[in-house]
Amino acid sequence: MKCIIRDDDLNYFSAPKDVERWYGDLFKEGVPVGFSVIPFVKPSSDVYVGGEEFEEREYAMHENKALVAYAQMQPWIEILQHGTTHETVDGVYEYARTVSREETKRGREELEKAFGRKIAIFVPPHDWINSSGIRAVEAAHMNIIRGRGAGLRNWLPRWRYLMIFCRMLPWRLSYALRGKRAPAYPYVLDFGKHKELCSYRLEDDDVFEGLAYAHRKNGVFVVVTHLHFYTEEKKERLRSLIEKAREYGAEFIFPSVAFHD
Ligand SMILES: [Zn+2]
Repeated sequence: MKCIIRDDDLNYFSAPKDVERWYGDLFKEGVPVGFSVIPFVKPSSDVYVGGEEFEEREYAMHENKALVAYAQMQPWIEILQHGTTHETVDGVYEYARTVSREETKRGREELEKAFGRKIAIFVPPHDWINSSGIRAVEAAHMNIIRGRGAGLRNWLPRWRYLMIFCRMLPWRLSYALRGKRAPAYPYVLDFGKHKELCSYRLEDDDVFEGLAYAHRKNGVFVVVTHLHFYTEEKKERLRSLIEKAREYGAEFIFPSVAFHD
């Protein structure tokens, strides 16, 4: 089994000490973490962590030089793209709205400029993405890590979509009929022009069950954490998950490695 830690919402208002506080120990042990970074966060976004009053405008990632420098010298960090502004408008998440290809590309280019490396993975804010978003991500040549909705929530007229739908539906139904929630699908799904992986939230009731399932299937297990909403209790839960994964003989990998196999 391969394991991935994905941490969401790193942005202009984050500080190196936030990362160091919760992940310093894991980096020392050589555990990679994929940070989903918001390219142009706005203070009105639901992830604002600035504290003081700020002018309402986009804050580009590259403007936070200290965080960029920290990420550059830390070899166990991979940068993923997390939306473009992460803005929820009238209760609708950013990538649940119609998004242009230029907007997604603008976000990817900002992160590539800031961190000086290629960005290969897109994470939709709140794990929600509609079909226009999928097309925009494909045009920007990225793969997707999302929640558990892969294969059933989007529809593009393509053979691969139909094939995966026919595989996922009976699999999901087999759990639904037993009154159970289906686990996250434990393998990479190939939609032709992009690939997808499913993830658990650290807070999910069945996250340990999901780890055991991914181990039995020799698949990929992805757990999502949130840097700015950590507590000692949550960190303890992550540590237990890591210990259990090690007992299973799991390998912790950078997110992009999962898509190369
Ligand atoms: Zn987010």
